[in-house]
Amino acid sequence: MSRDEMRKIQSIRLKQTVERVYHNSTFYRKKMQELGITPNDIESIDDIGKLPFTTKQDLRDNYPFGLMSSPMSEIVRLHASSGTTGKPVVVGYTRSDLAVWAEVVARCLTAYGVTKNDRIQVSYGYGLFTGGLGAHMGVENIGGTVIPMSSGNTQKQIQLMHDFGANGLACTPSYAMYLAETIHASGIPLEEFQLRIGAFGAEPWSENMRKELEEKLHIKAYDIYGLTEICGPGVGGECECQNGTHLWEDHFFPEIVDPVTLQPVAPGEEGELVFTTLTKEGMPMIRYRTRDLTHLIYDKCECGRTAVRMGRIMGRSDDMLIIRGVNVFPSQIESVILEMPEFEPHYLIIVDRKNNTDTFEVQVEVRQEFYSDEINRMMELKKKIGHRLQSVLGISADIKLVEPRSIERSQGKAKRVIDNRKI
Ligand code: ADP
Ligand code: ZN
Repeated sequence: MSRDEMRKIQSIRLKQTVERVYHNSTFYRKKMQELGITPNDIESIDDIGKLPFTTKQDLRDNYPFGLMSSPMSEIVRLHASSGTTGKPVVVGYTRSDLAVWAEVVARCLTAYGVTKNDRIQVSYGYGLFTGGLGAHMGVENIGGTVIPMSSGNTQKQIQLMHDFGANGLACTPSYAMYLAETIHASGIPLEEFQLRIGAFGAEPWSENMRKELEEKLHIKAYDIYGLTEICGPGVGGECECQNGTHLWEDHFFPEIVDPVTLQPVAPGEEGELVFTTLTKEGMPMIRYRTRDLTHLIYDKCECGRTAVRMGRIMGRSDDMLIIRGVNVFPSQIESVILEMPEFEPHYLIIVDRKNNTDTFEVQVEVRQEFYSDEINRMMELKKKIGHRLQSVLGISADIKLVEPRSIERSQGKAKRVIDNRKI
């Protein structure tokens, strides 16, 4: 679809969405009235900047159902965000919202090369978290066979993956890593597995993590992106080019704004991703601030899809640690650790404050074959990673080398940071 055609569809749908929220949601009507605008002021997608932003705090302040734009009798499903950064937020879906969600996840799976002949093991958690049921509906929508494992019970996961001949695995990248380790430890030869495709998301992951997962599991690993507030997983997904995540912008209109001034950034520049839903009924979102930091790529993708692409997410603005005045993203640390063959892809960042100075410890697991009782060898290793981290981050970290398998494994979203500072 050409840009012009896309903008036309987006314009029509934006106007419908604005009408809907203005007339059905006290929350949005009030916000628009405060800015002195009515639906008549929105003539096309170019007017999006006139609309107010919506934040996670708005959802929390109106907990649980304050932002619904459909009567509860039309709502057929509730979900809640995983609450990584505080009190969960609740979202509601109409029947049509679920159909759109199943459609966008199906688009992602199709882009990965999944067909009705594939069996996909869904190892995202089922329940209020959107990961499990979202991926589930997508697989069913393209007629594939879904294996609804949910997360946890890792031994059984690999047994059934093996016995059922799963071709695809959908879970967080950190859980995929744990499953890969468990497969290797099980002694079942990798050749006996049919795994070909990974659909990984729900947390930031680096390009090095992708390489590692592809090598360890003999698969192609693809990104799937989404957030509860917009629908769940499937807001975007990578294609076979693995060169940016296509966002399904006929349903979710993306903008990138400067997180401080809230003004749009220059095309291609990094900033905060903001979404306006264009077809949602239950709980449309107007200019929802995701706090995810990325950039958009409007050049045509080699796969032929014209949907805009988004660069890898560095992390959320609220994942960013400020340590001794320096901005640090856990994903930068992950990238360094995975560059070095001596380390396992498992780490923990512990930040504290002593004598008015931030302390910054990075625990990292040494691979079995590099682990040694010889102090000198371990000191060398510590120096090596210490230097590399210092040059990437611009501050020094206390490195603590730990034994293989000593850092707790995650079955959902990994928790990589313990910040004990009381600020
Ligand atoms: P919570 O905000 O409580 O974690 P969600 O489960 O809705 O709830 O998480 C959505 C968030 O997860 C996104 O805003 C983003 O920060 C992160 N996320 C989801 N998919 C990806 C991905 N593919 N890459 C990086 N981050 C992702
Ligand atoms: Zn593409």
